[in-house]
Amino acid sequence: MNIRLCPPPTLLISGHLRSILKYYECPDCHKVMESTRFYWYRRKRTGVPKRTPRCKDCEIYRRSSSVDYHVNELYNQTKRRSRKKGIKFTLTKEWYRIKLNGSCELSGVPFDFHSKKISPSARAASVDRIVPAKGYIQSNCRLICISLNYLFSSWGEEDALGIVLPYLRQKGFSVETTPDE
Ligand SMILES: [Zn+2]
Repeated sequence: MNIRLCPPPTLLISGHLRSILKYYECPDCHKVMESTRFYWYRRKRTGVPKRTPRCKDCEIYRRSSSVDYHVNELYNQTKRRSRKKGIKFTLTKEWYRIKLNGSCELSGVPFDFHSKKISPSARAASVDRIVPAKGYIQSNCRLICISLNYLFSSWGEEDALGIVLPYLRQKGFSVETTPDE
């Protein structure tokens, strides 16, 4: 076991020494991990690269509590996707900010802003294109929970409900459905 060789908690070690050592302990989750599980950043004044004290997961968790973090994440992610797919993109950061301060436009459930990169929360916000080919324009986009987005984009709303409704009835919930006009 090489855990015995691990450095003591972060504050006791200088930045330079910390960047050479192979294993760190994260002060938030207290796991001892390889240095690659920690982000690099450049110190503003000196420009010297340094590892963040928290591990990548805890760092994302901490940053993701702010709405601004998600505005930038979603904006960059969808812009990149639109370029890759060659579809229209006219969404603005302001549009994201307004939508993120609301809730899921399909379920009304409030968004969860604390999500980890590897496994996002079921209530993390995601952009849904109502008609995929029309692209990322305001009249064609809404912000919904990522779990609903996965479900509906993989099987379509009708097929997904064909499973979800019987499941809820099995669980003892009474679900009333009214046929469409
Ligand atoms: Zn951690």
